[in-house]
Amino acid sequence: MTDSEVAASLGRSYEAYRSWHRKDLAERCAVLQRIADLHRQHSVELAKLMTLEMGKPISQARTEVQLSAAIFEYYATSGEQLLADEELDIAGAGRALVRTAPIGPLLGVMPWNFPYYQAARFIAPNLLLGNTILLKHASNCPQQALRIEDIIRAAGVPEGVYQNLFATSGQVAELIASPELQGVSLTGSEKAGSAIGALAGQHLKKCVLELGGSDPFLVLPAADVEKAAGAAAAGRFGNAGQACTSSKRLIVDSCNWDSFLDAFLAKAAEWQIGDPMSEDTRLGPMSSLQARAELAEQVDDAVAKGATVHLGGFIPEGRGSYYPATVLSGVTPDMRAYREELFGPVAVLHRVDSVDEAITLANDSPYGLGSAVFTDDEKQAAYVTDRLEVGMVGINTTIKSAPDLPFGGVKSSGIGRELGKYGLNEFANKKLVRTI
Ligand code: NAP
Repeated sequence: MTDSEVAASLGRSYEAYRSWHRKDLAERCAVLQRIADLHRQHSVELAKLMTLEMGKPISQARTEVQLSAAIFEYYATSGEQLLADEELDIAGAGRALVRTAPIGPLLGVMPWNFPYYQAARFIAPNLLLGNTILLKHASNCPQQALRIEDIIRAAGVPEGVYQNLFATSGQVAELIASPELQGVSLTGSEKAGSAIGALAGQHLKKCVLELGGSDPFLVLPAADVEKAAGAAAAGRFGNAGQACTSSKRLIVDSCNWDSFLDAFLAKAAEWQIGDPMSEDTRLGPMSSLQARAELAEQVDDAVAKGATVHLGGFIPEGRGSYYPATVLSGVTPDMRAYREELFGPVAVLHRVDSVDEAITLANDSPYGLGSAVFTDDEKQAAYVTDRLEVGMVGINTTIKSAPDLPFGGVKSSGIGRELGKYGLNEFANKKLVRTI
C-alpha cells in the first residue's frame, strides 16, 4: 500500500467508529456470530490456505480454524454479560458504576504462526466493544489476511470498521503517531515488540504486546511420567515447535530422569516429518528456510559446546524447510539454546535434584509466558505455582488456549492479556459514572 492509501484507511476507520460503536450491542453480537459461522462453513478452504502459506499440517490447521470460530462465538454469546455495567460497593453516598466503553480505531500487528487464531484474539473482543480495526498481518500470509477481511465483510461488518493493511514498518510507525489511532496490539518477537512498545510510549498510545516464550515443563517426583511425556511431545512438536507457549524446556527430577527420557524419546519419534497437506502428517516444514537456518545454528552451537543429541539435530536432505523432532540434554548457560527461544521442533531436557532447583531453573529465563507442572502432589503443585514467574500455569496439562481463558505473560513475554474478559478490557475505557 502507498502511504496515502494507509492514511486513507485510518480516515475511514475513524469515520466508521462514530457509527459502529453507537450500534445496538445485539447487532454487533449478531455480526460476530456470523463471522464464527463463516469460519466453520469455510474451514476446509481456510485450513488449506494456512497449510499453503506457512506449512502447518492440515489437520492442525483445521483445529485452528475451529478455535478461531469458537473465539468469535464466545464474544458473540457472552457480549451482553461481559459489557454489563459494574456497580461498585462504595463508602460515600449515592451510586458509582463502571461502564465498559470503546476507545476508537486500533491497529493490530499479527504473526504468521497462528494466522487466524492470533487475529481472532484481537478482532473479536474489539469489534464487540465497538472499536474499529486496522490489521497488518505477517507478510508471509497475504492470502489469509485478505480472506479474513472477506469473511468479516461477508458477515455484515460495515465499510471501514475492519480493514486489512499491507503496510510497512514505517507506515505502522506513522499510524501509531497519528492522533486518530487509540491503541496498538502486537503479537510477535521481542524485537518487534520493543519497537512497537517504544512508539506507543512516545505517542502515549495504549499497547498490548504478546511476545516470545521459553516455557518450562516440570516433571516432579510425583508425576505420571507416561502422561507427562505425551503432553510434552505434543506441546513441543505441534505446529513444528513454532508456538509461543510450546514446552521448550523440560525440567525433570532425577528420580524420573531415566523413565521420562525413554518415554519422551518414544513419543518424540512419533513426530515424523511429512507433506503438510497429507492428513496423517504431524510434523510439517518450518515457516521458511531462514527460520530453519536460525534454529540449526542454535542447535549446532549447543552441540559444539558439549550438549548431547538424543534425537534429530540435523538438516535433512531434500526440498523444503523441514527440521526433524530433536531432543537435547546437557544444555548449559554458555549455550544459545539455554536462554534463547527455540522457535522450532527442538526440546531441551534438564535434570534437577530437587523441586527448588527445578523452580530456580524454570525462572532462569528472560521469558515468563506459560508453564506446565506435572505432579500428583497437590501441595507441591501449589508451592511451585506460587513461585513460577510466568503468566500461565498448567497443572498436569500444557497451556491450551480457550476463548474464555486469559492468555499472556510477564518479563520479556509481553504486556497485557488477550481472551476472556481480561482481553476485552485491554482496549476499553472503564468509564466511572458517579451519581449523588
Ligand atoms: P515478528 O518477526 O516479530 O513478526 C510479527 C509481526 O510483526 C509481523 O506482522 C511483522 O511484519 C511485524 N513486524 C516486525 N517488526 C516490525 C516493526 N519494527 N514494526 C512493525 N511491524 C513489525 O515475529 P515472527 O517471527 O513472525 O513470530 C514469532 C514470534 O512471535 C515468536 O517469538 C513467538 O513466540 C511470538 N508469538 C507470541 C505469541 C504470544 O501470544 N505471546 C503468540 C504467537 C507468537 P512482517 O511479517 O512484515 O515482518
